[in-house]
Amino acid sequence: MAVATLVVSLAVVFLTGLASLRFTLAEIETRADANLAVQTAVLERLLDKFRLLSPLLARGPETGRMVAGEGTEFDRNIVSVTAGMSGAEEIWLMDPGGRTLLSSRDNVPSGAIGGGSMIPDAFYQATQGQLGRELIPGTPEVPASYVFASPLRSGNELAGVLAVRVSLGDVEQAWALSKDPIVAVDGKGRVVVSNVPNWRNKGFASLDLTRNAADLTLLDRLALLLPTAGQRPVHMELAASLPVLGWQVRTFADVESARRQSGWAMLIALLVCVIAAGVLWLIAFRRRELDRQIRRDKAAALRLERRVKARTAELRTANRQLEQEVSERLQAEADLRQMQAELVQAAKLATLGRMSAALSHEYNQPLAAIRSDAEIAEMLIDRGRADEAKGNLTRIGGMVSRMAEIAKTLKGFTRKSGTDIKPVSLRQVVDEAMLLLQPQIKQTKVDLVIDLPEENLIVGGGRIRLEQVVINLLANALDAVSTEAQPTVCLTLEQVGGKAVMSVRDNGTGISEDVLPQIFDPFFTTKDVGAGLGLGLSIAYKIVHDFSGSLSADNHEDGGAVFTMSLPLADETLLAAE
Ligand code: ADP
Repeated sequence: MAVATLVVSLAVVFLTGLASLRFTLAEIETRADANLAVQTAVLERLLDKFRLLSPLLARGPETGRMVAGEGTEFDRNIVSVTAGMSGAEEIWLMDPGGRTLLSSRDNVPSGAIGGGSMIPDAFYQATQGQLGRELIPGTPEVPASYVFASPLRSGNELAGVLAVRVSLGDVEQAWALSKDPIVAVDGKGRVVVSNVPNWRNKGFASLDLTRNAADLTLLDRLALLLPTAGQRPVHMELAASLPVLGWQVRTFADVESARRQSGWAMLIALLVCVIAAGVLWLIAFRRRELDRQIRRDKAAALRLERRVKARTAELRTANRQLEQEVSERLQAEADLRQMQAELVQAAKLATLGRMSAALSHEYNQPLAAIRSDAEIAEMLIDRGRADEAKGNLTRIGGMVSRMAEIAKTLKGFTRKSGTDIKPVSLRQVVDEAMLLLQPQIKQTKVDLVIDLPEENLIVGGGRIRLEQVVINLLANALDAVSTEAQPTVCLTLEQVGGKAVMSVRDNGTGISEDVLPQIFDPFFTTKDVGAGLGLGLSIAYKIVHDFSGSLSADNHEDGGAVFTMSLPLADETLLAAE
C-alpha cells in the first residue's frame, strides 16, 4: 500500500515535471525563436545596406576622377564624409595592383597597408567584375569587419577597386541586449559575430557549450528534473541561416527557468500527492476503524447472545429444579397434612381416652356411692327406719351436686368463644379474683405478693372469663406451694409496649420437662384422681387466645413455675365505643 502510493506519487511527480518541462521548453523555444529572428534581421539589414554602398560609390563621377589619379585633399574629404554618413567603418580605393590610393581614414598613407592584400578574396572577386566580399576576423578585443569590394571602371578597363569596410561591432552591440548568447558562424564553422567577445574567431565546435536541450533523451530530461548539484546547465540551440553569406546565426537559450518552473510544478505535484495520500490514508484508517468497531460490536453481540443462551439454559434448569422442588414441597406438605391429620386424630383419641378415664372416674365413684346409699336408704325405709335413711339421702344429694359441679366445669369448656369484647380493667379483675380466693389463701397461709402498676391497664375482653383465668392460675400456684415450708406466690402486672403482661410465679417444684409440652392439653393433670380434672389451664389458654392474647408456662431460674399472660391494651375505638 505504502510502496504503491510512493511509486504512484513519484510517477505523478515526474510526469508532472516532464509535462511542465515540455511546456516551458516550448515556450522558451518560441521566445528564443522570435529573438533569433529579430537579431538575425539586425545583421541582415546591416549587411544589405552596405552591400549596395560599394557599387553605388564605384559608379559615382568623383570616383572616376580619383582613379584617374587626380586625388586631392578634397577627394579624401568626400570619402570621409561618405563613410561617416553611411556609418561605414572605412572606405578606401585601390589601384588594380592592390595598393591603397585613398582612405577615409586620416592616418592611412597612400599605398600603405590595408590594400588589396588585406582582402585578397574580395579584391580578386572585384577585379573579376563581381561584388567582392570578405570577412576580416575579429579578436577578443576588436570586433570583426566585413568588406564589400566593387570594381572601378574607366571604359572597359579596370581602373581600381573600391572597398567598404563595415564593423560588425554594431551588430554585437545590438545583440548584447539579448541575454542569451548569439553567434554568427560562417561556412567554415568559425564564429564571426558574437555577443560573447571571447568567442570571436573561434571554431564553433570548440566552444565550451552546454548540451543542447533538443538532443536530450527522456533519461536526460528526468536527470534535468533532479536537483542534483553540479548538474551542467543545458541550453536550447536555435539556428537561422543567412543564405547569401552562407552563414548561420545561432542562439543558446538558457533552460534554467524551465528547470526551475518544472521544479515548482513538481513540488506542487508532490504536495498534492502528499495531501492526497494523507486523505487516502485517513479514509483507509477510518474505514479500518469502522470495520474494527463493527467486528467488535458483532463480537460483543455474539458474546451477549451466548451469555443469554447460557443464562436461559441455566434459568431453564433452575426452573425445572424449582418445579421439582415445588412438587416435592407439595408432596411433603400433603404428607405433613396427612400426618397432622393423623396426629390430630390420635390426639383427639388420646384426649377422648383421658376424658373418658377422668369422667368415668369422676362419675363412677359418686354413682357407686349413690347406689349403695340408695340401697341402704331403701333397706332402712323397708325396715321402717326412715329417719336413719335421711343421712344417706343427704349424702346422695351432696354427691349429685358435686357431679353437677363437674358438669358445669365441662360446660365452661364448651362455651363458644366470646364475641362481646369490652374494655376490662385488669386491676379490677385481679381484685375480684383475690376476693373469691380469699378462703383458700387463708387456709394455706401463703405469702401472696401483688405488684400492680400505678396506671390502670385496660384490655379488651370479658371480665368474668378473665377472672376465671386469674383464679385458675392463682389456684394452681397455691396447689403447687401447698407443701412448701415458706409458700410464696407473686402476681405482677405491667405494661410492655402496647401490651399488658401479667405473670404469676410460685416457689413450688416447677413443671417437669416432659409435662411442659402438654400442660395446656384438656384433661391433662398430674394431680390425684378427684383433685383435678385437667381442664383449668386448657380453658384459660382458650380464653386468653379468644381475646387475642397469649399464655405461656415456664420454669423460673430460681425454681418454681411462671405463667405469663399477655393481652393487647384496648385501643381508642374500643374505649370510645364504651
Ligand atoms: P388440674 O389443676 O385440675 O390438674 P390444670 O389444667 O389446672 O388441671 O393443670 C394441669 C396440670 O398442670 C396440673 O395437674 C399440674 O401438674 C400442672 N400445673 C399447673 N400449675 C402448676 C404450677 N403452678 N406448678 C406446677 N405444676 C403446675
